[in-house]
Amino acid sequence: MISVEEAKQIIDGKIWMKDLESIDLEHSSGRIIAQDVTASFPSPRFDNSAMDGYAVRANDIIGASKDAPILLKNIGVSAAGQPFERSLGTGECIQCMTGARIPIGADTIIMVEDSSGFNDDEYVSIYSSSSKGKHIRRIGEEIKTNDILIEKGANITASEIGVCASFGYDKVIVSERPTIGIFGTGNELVDPGSDLKEGQVYNSNLPVFIDLVQKAGANISMKDVIKDDKGSLHTFLNDALSNCDIIISSGGVSMGRYDHVRDVMIDLGVEQHFWRVAQKPGKPLFFGTKENTLVFGLPGNPVSSYIGFIEWVWPVIRKMMGENKSPYLNGVLEEPFQREKAKYRYLFGKAWIEDNKLLCKPSGKMGSHMLTSSLDSNCILSSGPGPGTLRPGDSIQVNMLPWGKLR
Ligand code: AMP
Ligand code: MG
Repeated sequence: MISVEEAKQIIDGKIWMKDLESIDLEHSSGRIIAQDVTASFPSPRFDNSAMDGYAVRANDIIGASKDAPILLKNIGVSAAGQPFERSLGTGECIQCMTGARIPIGADTIIMVEDSSGFNDDEYVSIYSSSSKGKHIRRIGEEIKTNDILIEKGANITASEIGVCASFGYDKVIVSERPTIGIFGTGNELVDPGSDLKEGQVYNSNLPVFIDLVQKAGANISMKDVIKDDKGSLHTFLNDALSNCDIIISSGGVSMGRYDHVRDVMIDLGVEQHFWRVAQKPGKPLFFGTKENTLVFGLPGNPVSSYIGFIEWVWPVIRKMMGENKSPYLNGVLEEPFQREKAKYRYLFGKAWIEDNKLLCKPSGKMGSHMLTSSLDSNCILSSGPGPGTLRPGDSIQVNMLPWGKLR
């Protein structure tokens, strides 16, 4: 049996990166930016108006007010996309819409509300003075040419999509999605929707894996529930080893008489890097590789396999796709956390912010068969081995579930 830290190091040494591909921006949500995205022009690209109003010279309207309007000659319109080509002389004004180029010669914008309004009259009354630069968005005030807009490793959300689009990019470079094979094992498993006979249980791990793989942004190429017999396992795994970047199984890797997953993997040429990790839940975790394929055998108890996926498999999928940030935060316990003397301990938990601190507490349901412990949880709490229980006020590692919210 090896420690969690050793096991993570072994896995890190086996992770490889998928090839890069260029994909349409509109289908890029959830992927990871694989190359820095830089600005090929400044933003704003040119001085433009922040308001619908009149572009004027501040010196022409000193002292203007509702009671003492100043008349300016109305010489044209600068609209977004249709700049006014002439420059502005003394005593002149130009109708300038939001986003439109500031005409040469103008140095401030008077809101249309502070004028006699937009029209084609020869003269316009200005009801307010203004300082130079007011309501003008300056070229490059947000971004300079060649600035890095988005760093490699960023998760693509509406923000990244919007910024790429606003700089004219219709494609982004990302890593390809890893191809995943998932399977559950167990003669006792029945798919939800059918009736249960004595001793049977519903298969819940595969539906959980399906959701997690999809959320992580990878492709499921094979999925199945397999009986505990070597032949069926052999057939599925043989196929999966030639088609998948990562294979993830649940069940059949412990010491039971019918736990054949590991044997079959080894028969098929998978090199075992470790089996059994000093952790609870999920001790009989198996990890191996065959050529490029990474193989994770997670134990079957629903909490073991769910937590095992988030802690062990999720980061691997995300790293292969280019993510480079650690998910772990430090929280402060509000309730005791029973750590283990010689094992890493993981529990579903709840984290929230109070008085600017990240507080957290473990779920009260501690059994690895108690899947409802995940329901009210937004994180997984974990502690390395040590004597005694962690107390309220002690700090603990918090792994927010990727969709978990701090409320
Ligand atoms: P195993 O790791 O195969 O010994 O399974 C441990 C426990 O988890 C047993 O009680 C199994 O019935 C249960 N189990 C295994 N696979 C699943 C699954 N796909 N869905 C729900 N429970 C499972
Ligand atoms: Mg089993």
